[in-house]
Amino acid sequence: MSDSSRTNSAKTEAVPPTDTLYGSGVSPGIVIGKAVVVGTSIVSVREYEVAPEKVEGEVLRFGSALARARAELVELCDRARQSGDQELVDILEMQVMITADGMIEEEVSGRIRRHRRNAGYLLKNYIDEFCERLARVGNSLFAERTSDIQDLAVRILRKLVGGESNDLSKLPERCILIAHDFSPSDTAGMDRKNVVAFVTSMGSRTSHTAIMARALGIPAVVGVGEGLVMVVDGDELVVDGNRGMVIVSPDAATLVRYRERIGQEAAWRAKIEASAMLPAETRDGFHVSVAANVELAEEVGRLGSMHHAGIGLFRTEFLFVKGGGISDEESQYATYRRVTEAIRPYSVIFRTLDIGGDKFLSHLDVPVEMNPFLGMRAIRFCLHREDIFRNQLRAILRASAHGKVRVLFPMITTVDELRSTLAILDDVKADLERRGIPHNPDLDVGIMIEVPAAAMIADKLAPYVDFFSIGTNDLVQYTMAVDRSNPDISYLYQPGHPSIIRLLERVVRAANEQGRWVGICGEMAAEPLYLPLILGLGINELSMSPVAIPIIKDLVRDINMLEAQDLVAQAMDCASADEVTALCREFVSRIAPELFQE
Ligand code: PEP
Ligand code: MG
Repeated sequence: MSDSSRTNSAKTEAVPPTDTLYGSGVSPGIVIGKAVVVGTSIVSVREYEVAPEKVEGEVLRFGSALARARAELVELCDRARQSGDQELVDILEMQVMITADGMIEEEVSGRIRRHRRNAGYLLKNYIDEFCERLARVGNSLFAERTSDIQDLAVRILRKLVGGESNDLSKLPERCILIAHDFSPSDTAGMDRKNVVAFVTSMGSRTSHTAIMARALGIPAVVGVGEGLVMVVDGDELVVDGNRGMVIVSPDAATLVRYRERIGQEAAWRAKIEASAMLPAETRDGFHVSVAANVELAEEVGRLGSMHHAGIGLFRTEFLFVKGGGISDEESQYATYRRVTEAIRPYSVIFRTLDIGGDKFLSHLDVPVEMNPFLGMRAIRFCLHREDIFRNQLRAILRASAHGKVRVLFPMITTVDELRSTLAILDDVKADLERRGIPHNPDLDVGIMIEVPAAAMIADKLAPYVDFFSIGTNDLVQYTMAVDRSNPDISYLYQPGHPSIIRLLERVVRAANEQGRWVGICGEMAAEPLYLPLILGLGINELSMSPVAIPIIKDLVRDINMLEAQDLVAQAMDCASADEVTALCREFVSRIAPELFQE
């Protein structure tokens, strides 16, 4: 759970103060590196205390942010003048005037000194009060101005967050990227070999930054909040992705302690990885398949040492971002074929394009929506843009001639939607057949169960497909009505909520009755805490970031299926997520106490 508070360690004469920021540890591991701050838009501003000896530094930081915002506005205003956009010139001139008349600087600096709070929070308060006063005047001209003033505040806040460059294609060695959040296009163009960790003020376990960090096998802490503004380019940082901690400018003793921990962790991981090739079989002989979630084709080469059971989820949307546009059939085919051949003799499940929600691709013609997670997303987009969908299906089908390929449709909600999807698939197959293009006409077809409506009618959907893959990231989001990427309401993001356990039980039962297999490819599958519950429910395959595979397989081997089934019976009767997680914690601590040691 995200906690944006900041603690100051005891200060001694010789040792600089060490600050610790807290967020959600969403990709494991500990690293030491240097911060590179990436400027992005900021939406939420949190309050934190500024230590007395840092107050003047905070005042200076605000002054510098204001000056940089002003310089940017002057430049924008010149450009608007040249292009003859008088309306924009008026707005920008008004904003320049506000930044230059000294009032805002005096007010916010005074508040920083009086209240010893961060500049961003006090600026936001001041601007809100100012806008409220304008609105009270009752003059519509003034009221219209409030949005321009809020816009100015955001510009200054961005400067407070840090750097302005988004050029991530050239980065210094061993850098830790700091940002509000990373979009798929940020990470697509990133110089990844030099990045050792991500830290963001926004985000959650299932946000893009978290998924990408796990794919790259680097630690990440997200949802740190506005406290992250204290980090500036070049700061030395310790990022602890296990505990969700970021230590800023660690003192010598802290560095020694963390270097020791890094060594211990490497030794523990080496031990677990050495047994990663053993089957995932419970103590009483039940087998579960443990596969990999993959986002980038280049990851596939690195999977070899994992002794996996294939790719349980290949998220194809990342391919679409990479080229900066819609990949054509040929380039998709080349990638799918490369992945299919590399993973042989195991299988790969290609999930068709799941854009929308937090995976918004600006270069695709997707309308701006009030509720993107409830809008034109995934299969809805594909049925709307059949041209894109057919290209992708052709590419996947052609790759199926080169190995074991399965296809998976995201966000299916109704039987009609599934029928329409399958009709297009059949049509594409028939077309390939007519043209004599090799493909596997009998490839397995599955659907994601990630919308509660689909979970409730799993028995009606099962006859049409070969398997279900449960997307718990979205199933939790849609069941609990909680935006999966909003750290402010992450307390409601409860995979252990009895409603989720009941839905999972229902889906597995429906699938079993009709001889279909069921996997989980959401993050819940990679959480040791829920593993006994998932096994007890009778899930056949778990698919997860490769980094989690050795730990999960190791834990499977400590579980007794009868005990796990008993745990499910108890969880089904619980009233809250707290009760379920307490039962799970008790179970896992008993069989693997080291997992919960501090
Ligand atoms: C899920 O929703 O659990 C899932 C695996 O899909 P994604 O995270 O890509 O939405
Ligand atoms: Mg999903």
